[in-house]
Amino acid sequence: MTGLKTVVSVESAPAMHWVGDGFPVRQMFSPGTGNGALDPFLMLDYAAPMKFAPTKGRRGVGPHPHRGFETVTVVYQGEVEHRDSTGAGGTIGPGDVQWMTAASGILHEEFHSSDFSKTGGNMEMMQLWVNLPAKHKSAPPGYQTLLAGDIPNVALADSAGHVRVIAGNFKDYHGQDHHGPARTFTPVDLWDVRLVAGATATLQLPEGHTAALAILRGEVGVGAEHTAREGQLAIMSRTGAAIALTAGTEASILLMSGKPLGEAIAAHGPFVMNTVGEVKQAMRDFQDGKFGVIS
Ligand code: MN
Repeated sequence: MTGLKTVVSVESAPAMHWVGDGFPVRQMFSPGTGNGALDPFLMLDYAAPMKFAPTKGRRGVGPHPHRGFETVTVVYQGEVEHRDSTGAGGTIGPGDVQWMTAASGILHEEFHSSDFSKTGGNMEMMQLWVNLPAKHKSAPPGYQTLLAGDIPNVALADSAGHVRVIAGNFKDYHGQDHHGPARTFTPVDLWDVRLVAGATATLQLPEGHTAALAILRGEVGVGAEHTAREGQLAIMSRTGAAIALTAGTEASILLMSGKPLGEAIAAHGPFVMNTVGEVKQAMRDFQDGKFGVIS
């Protein structure tokens, strides 16, 4: 039997801040967090449930660029609308995911959907940034809509809860593989894990890969000695091939795992490259209008 991954550290997210006027997020990690232990993951913003009154306006973030990585948006409650310079766009609701590849450069906008804005209601969402290896940072931009119905929802043993497999592969307790619909450039597992109060679960993950758990709701024992609560991130060791969880309460967890890229990171705002020179080039290209237009 291979060993369990162990907790390297438990990080607490700072206080909420607004992204545009639509997304009240806690930043659960940023490119500096964990001193490389989160590679290939760059940033995670989580907007806990917040009730919005009906409006005739649009709440969110207007046109802005990205280059060098991918943004993954998961909606738990409410609806988010996206449009970008590749001509792609769409609305996602509860359980749906947008997997946007910025790569060589994209311009996009992110708003509450017009239907949601009109009626108002609870918004809960998260956005994860996944780095691209140097050789794929110049790939064409792209966009995948992953609807809830296309995301396997796999039961855990002993009615402990469910795992929604957004990306990668989840091996269930019968030994059966369940593949997520997302196309990724490097091996990434991204799972939306729900545990019932008091449940225990052991999740198999690749030996040698980065792994981290963002606790979105509830309280979870990780391994034998650590507890992580809402707004906390448990960064796990690369050594080990499984994570043992005990849910102190009903819990919603975002599990991220991936093969580390092991490359230099130069991150500035919406650009994540390998060198400062490449970031400056991205800024010049944006100023020169080379990221296209949203039509
Ligand atoms: Mn964006």
